[in-house]
Amino acid sequence: MSRLDSFIARMQAQRDCLNFLKDKVDRLPGPLLEVGLGNGRTYDHLRTLFPGRDIYVFERKVAAHPDCVPPDDRLFLGEVRDSIPRAVARLGATAALIHTDLGTGDHAANMAMGKWLGPALDLLAATAGYVLANQALDVARWQRLPEPPGVPKDRYFLYRVRPPIARRAAQAPAGRRRRAPNR
Ligand code: SAM
Repeated sequence: MSRLDSFIARMQAQRDCLNFLKDKVDRLPGPLLEVGLGNGRTYDHLRTLFPGRDIYVFERKVAAHPDCVPPDDRLFLGEVRDSIPRAVARLGATAALIHTDLGTGDHAANMAMGKWLGPALDLLAATAGYVLANQALDVARWQRLPEPPGVPKDRYFLYRVRPPIARRAAQAPAGRRRRAPNR
């Protein structure tokens, strides 16, 4: 596969995943988060799919197409390590959809970032919300969902946010709850 083929396949997967989530996210309250504005293509797709929804954007330095620059009050500017905590203070765990596309060509750097990015974004994710990521993210309460139809395996990563583990245990039928061992 040439780099052009690979680029096109990645763009198609992004669009197919976002389109797949349209009806599901429509049923949820809360803002949408675009993590990594880049050229603004997926931001533009999100605002086309979800007119009227609040979309907050994270970007270290805006260099998007001029038509795709979010309003100042929807932009968390700077390194995500700094801007995610600011967003948590402002928005809390309310996001119906988080789309993150921060990667670079440096696989090792992406892997290292993935380790802290998932738990950091979890603080912004509403229970029952969705996370769509360009890399695998490991968060205990996120359930990986299969790729939407037509999206090759492991091309994009889709998760559903479950209730926190303590709350799930409390909600489970009594017979299925874990008992502390007798001492
Ligand atoms: N989805 C976008 C689009 O459709 O145009 C492309 C996103 S591009 C691949 C990744 C963007 O994330 C870049 O604009 C880069 O500046 C930004 N980025 C990468 N690492 C970042 C970090 N640690 N903090 C903030 N922004 C970052």
